[in-house]
Amino acid sequence: MTQTPSYQSPEIVRVETRQVSCDGGGGALGHPRVWYEMGDEDMVECKYCDRRFVLSGGADDPERV
Ligand SMILES: [Zn+2]
Repeated sequence: MTQTPSYQSPEIVRVETRQVSCDGGGGALGHPRVWYEMGDEDMVECKYCDRRFVLSGGADDPERV
């Protein structure tokens, strides 16, 4: 469902819902699974691994056309 980000740092993860979970993807960047709710925003950043979750089709979607 996610696509390869067009650029790195922070990693962009496009999601379909405003509630997302992140566990860092395992490996060196792994962390305990946490849940985030975007609320009124179209994106949220993971405070552990700095991944940025953006709502697909939202204002912060880098691939929105
Ligand atoms: Zn994370």
